[in-house]
Amino acid sequence: MTRVLMIYPRFIPNSFWNYTEACELVGAKYPAAPLGLITVAAMLPQDWDIRLINRNTEELTDADLDWADLIMIGGMLNQQPDFLYLIDLAHLHGKVVCVGGPDVSSSPHLYANADFQVIGEAEHIITDFIAAWQRGERKGVFTAEKFKIDITQSPLPRYDLLKFEHYLYIGIQFSRGCPFTCEFCDIIELYGRVPRTKTQDQIFAELQALYDAGYRGHVDFVDDNFIGNRKHVRPMMPKLKEWLQKHDYPFEFTTEASINLADDDDMLQAMKDANFFGVFVGIESPDPETLIQMRKKQNTKRNIAESIHKIYSYGMFVTAGFILGFDSEKVSVATSMTDFIEECCVPVCMVGLLYALPGTQLTRRLEKEGRLHKGHDIMRVEQAGDQCTLGCNFDTKRPLREILVDYKTVLGNVFSPEAYAGRLRRLSSMLDRSGRPQQLADGDIRKNHGVDLLYQIINRIPEAKEPFWKTFVEVGKKNPGALRQIVTMMAIYLHLGPFSQHVIREIDRRIAELDAATPTAPAVHAYREPQVANA
Ligand code: SF4
Repeated sequence: MTRVLMIYPRFIPNSFWNYTEACELVGAKYPAAPLGLITVAAMLPQDWDIRLINRNTEELTDADLDWADLIMIGGMLNQQPDFLYLIDLAHLHGKVVCVGGPDVSSSPHLYANADFQVIGEAEHIITDFIAAWQRGERKGVFTAEKFKIDITQSPLPRYDLLKFEHYLYIGIQFSRGCPFTCEFCDIIELYGRVPRTKTQDQIFAELQALYDAGYRGHVDFVDDNFIGNRKHVRPMMPKLKEWLQKHDYPFEFTTEASINLADDDDMLQAMKDANFFGVFVGIESPDPETLIQMRKKQNTKRNIAESIHKIYSYGMFVTAGFILGFDSEKVSVATSMTDFIEECCVPVCMVGLLYALPGTQLTRRLEKEGRLHKGHDIMRVEQAGDQCTLGCNFDTKRPLREILVDYKTVLGNVFSPEAYAGRLRRLSSMLDRSGRPQQLADGDIRKNHGVDLLYQIINRIPEAKEPFWKTFVEVGKKNPGALRQIVTMMAIYLHLGPFSQHVIREIDRRIAELDAATPTAPAVHAYREPQVANA
C-alpha cells in the first residue's frame, strides 16, 4: 500500500478567474474543483490510500506531508509559483514528488526538480509510472503520445475526494481538443485538433455518481469546445434532457464553445432543453483583420453581436474573452473594443493582454522573429498576476505604452458600475428563460440567496447601489425569469469591479516603469522590423 498525498497548488492571487468575493457570498471557498487530480486519483491502484489537499480551499500541514509516501501535484500555468514551491517543500520533508498537468506538459524544463514527471495526458502512461514506483524506482519521466489517448478509457473521477461545499461548481468532461486553429491557443497543442469524446455511458455514470454523492447545483462541462465534435455530442443531448427530468433537475450546466454554436439552432435548443444556462465564448477582437491574423476564422464573416444575442434568445448568457496586443491592432482599439463589448452586451467579459503561452503557434512565431521576452514561460511569485497584468510578454508591434493605455481605458469603460448594469439590463431583455425549471434543487449552494444577495452586493460596493437597484427593479418587472441570472452576474461584479481597478493600478505601474526607463522615448519596447540593406 502506498500513501499518496495529492496537492492542488494555489492559483496566483488577483486573477480574473478566482471570483473570490462571489464565492464568499454563498459560502464557497473557490469556484472550481480539481477535476484533473481526482481523475488521476481514480487511475491509481485501489489499495493505495489517497488524500487530496486543495491549497485554494484548505491548509496543507506538516502532518499531511509527513503522512505520505508519495506526493503527487498537478496544475496549470497560473499555479506555477506555488507548484514549484510545493516541490521544494515536499523534498524538505524527504518525500518523492510526481508532477503532471498542463503546465508540466507545456514546460517540463521548469519542473526538472520533481522526481517523476508525467508529461501529457495521464490515462495510459500513468500505468508505467505505477509500475516503476512498484519496482522501487524513485525517478522517471513518462511522456504520453500526443493526441492519441483514448478517453473512453478514462475512469470515473474520485468525486469522493472532494468537499463539495467548498466549490461554486463541479467540473465534468465529455471531450478534449478543438478543431480550430487560433494562434495563441495552447489547447490545440496539448489536446489536439480532433476532439476525442467519452462515451455517453461514461458521462451518465459520472452524473449519476455526482448525484448519488449528494451533489446538487452547477456543473460545468470543462470541454475545450463543447461543440468541437458535434457528431458525438448531439445524440447525447436528448438523453441528458431525459436524465435531468427523471432526476428532477439536480444540475444546471455551463460550458465553453466556439461562436459557430450560434449557427446551430438544433444544438442551441438541445442545450436549452438540457438546462444549460451559460457559455464561455472566445470573441477576442472587433477587428476582422486581427481575427484573421490570429487565425480565428470562425469569428469572421459574421455579425458577432447578433451571434451572441442569438445565444441569449435560448436563455443562456455568454461570458467572453477579449484580447488587446495583437500585431494588426489599430490605434482606435480602445474605442472599438469598448463599443464592441457594449454592442455584444457581455457583462462578464475577460479583457486581457495577449500572452504568448508556452508551446503555441504564437510563441513559435515570436521566437522565430526574436520577439519573445526572456523567461516568458515563467510566472514569478513577485509578479503575481495573470494575463491581465502580465500580458504582452514579447516585443509588441505597436508601442507597448499605447497598448497599456488603451487596455486600461477599456477596463475603466466596461467595468464602471453604470456600464456593467447597463449591459445587464440589455442582456436581460434578450434572455429568454421560458420553459426552464424555476427552482434550484434542494442542496444547491446558490439556493436561498435572493434579494438578500443583492443587499450584500450593494453594501460591499456602494457606487453600484443605484445602477444595480435600477437594474434589479427593471428586470423584475420586465423579465422576472431572468432575475436569478442577473443577480448572479451582479455577484460576479463583486470580484470584477475591484479586480479591474487592481489591474488598472498594475498597468499604471507598468507604464510608470516604461516611462522611467525611457523618459524621452516611451516606445522603446516596440518591435521594429529588422533593417534590410537596400540591394
Ligand atoms: S476556439 Fe478556443 S479552444 Fe479552439 S483553437 Fe480557438 S481558442 Fe483554442
